[in-house]
Amino acid sequence: MKNRLFFLVIILGACEGQNPFPYKQSKASFPEVEYVKLAISTSSNSKSVIANGLNYLELQILAFNKIDALVQSYDSRNDIVEVIGNGRNFQMKHPFRFTATEKGNYSFRLRQGGIPVRYAQVEIVAIEPIQFQPTLLPVIFHYFNHKAKPMSDLEKDSVSGYLSKILGLTIKDFSNLSGSTDPNANDTGIRLEMAKKDAQGSTLQRAGVNFIETGGISFKSMEDFEDYAWKNCFWPPKKYVNVWVALAPYFDFKINGSISWAYYPDLSDFGQSTYPPGLYGVMLHQNGAAPAVLSHEIGHMLNLLHVFGDCTSDNDDCADTWSYSRTIYDSQSKFSLEKVSCSLEKFISNNFMDYGPCWNNTFTLQQALRIQGTLLKCSFLPTKRNGYSNGRLSGDDEKPTQVRVSDKRRLVL
Ligand SMILES: [Zn+2]
Repeated sequence: MKNRLFFLVIILGACEGQNPFPYKQSKASFPEVEYVKLAISTSSNSKSVIANGLNYLELQILAFNKIDALVQSYDSRNDIVEVIGNGRNFQMKHPFRFTATEKGNYSFRLRQGGIPVRYAQVEIVAIEPIQFQPTLLPVIFHYFNHKAKPMSDLEKDSVSGYLSKILGLTIKDFSNLSGSTDPNANDTGIRLEMAKKDAQGSTLQRAGVNFIETGGISFKSMEDFEDYAWKNCFWPPKKYVNVWVALAPYFDFKINGSISWAYYPDLSDFGQSTYPPGLYGVMLHQNGAAPAVLSHEIGHMLNLLHVFGDCTSDNDDCADTWSYSRTIYDSQSKFSLEKVSCSLEKFISNNFMDYGPCWNNTFTLQQALRIQGTLLKCSFLPTKRNGYSNGRLSGDDEKPTQVRVSDKRRLVL
């Protein structure tokens, strides 16, 4: 009897290494399921993941019935996916989130014994993150006091603290430090700081803020406001990112009273000109200055387009962001984070270049590359390309004397 027992133990031990289905699901538990398949989750919009140890790509196990319809009740928490790649071989459990720390090809295989499997294998490429050379952009907030009475020092301190806090969050957004786990999220290489000196080289009393006392005048139109900004507070854009922080000067009263906007860069060759023909920067509404809004608008200023559009083409020319129809979304499901892409995949919105509602934590690698291309081409950004190692220029800051004409083609919300 003793010998027999010993023999049985040997057999079990031998089987353990060979059994391909150690955690099999039971068909009896899911009688309606005809087969299961392994797929990349549609929330990922990618077959690759940037190998930075943070981004992850999610797999999912989908179950289908006899007529190939998705079985919603299938529970994949006991399933196992085997991962092979880069000399590694390990098993993954629910949720099937794959994070890589080194580039390479990975193969994922669903090992399932109790239910037939179709499309059991998925291939994924882990790609190296791109570390762009950081580009420092000094920011000057032109803060408008619309009251007749000048601001007190206390009020100025409060505003300056608030704007500094917002910029701190924006810096994190552009550095991919805002908690994104999107497989395509990447540091854009853009760094921002509160400008320390004014255009004449004098140290600013409150870094990054230029207070504008309007004396209580009101602006009659957007053009009226733009002309005021052009004449009174448009600092050389080769040295500064100009952000005008004002109450709606008329333009957005027509919409909902809390709109901010930005100007796209003009990538024409302006030679040595210090100023572009029109304003270039961001208009930030005083009542709508949330951090993600500033990241969105600076994104526009650096040539990023909205991820959404009309679905006739890739809306933003960045293949690693989801494109979707804003018109359809607005007509169907307002205030939902879940959106439906132009290719009819459901996804959770997370891109800074989307409108709310959105998680607002992601700039992708393609967007970062588009920004980097803009830094090379745009004449009016404080970059090394323009010969300013720290984003500053000494010399002629003369503006064109001709009154500028509003260029609505370059203006975007
Ligand atoms: Zn926008």
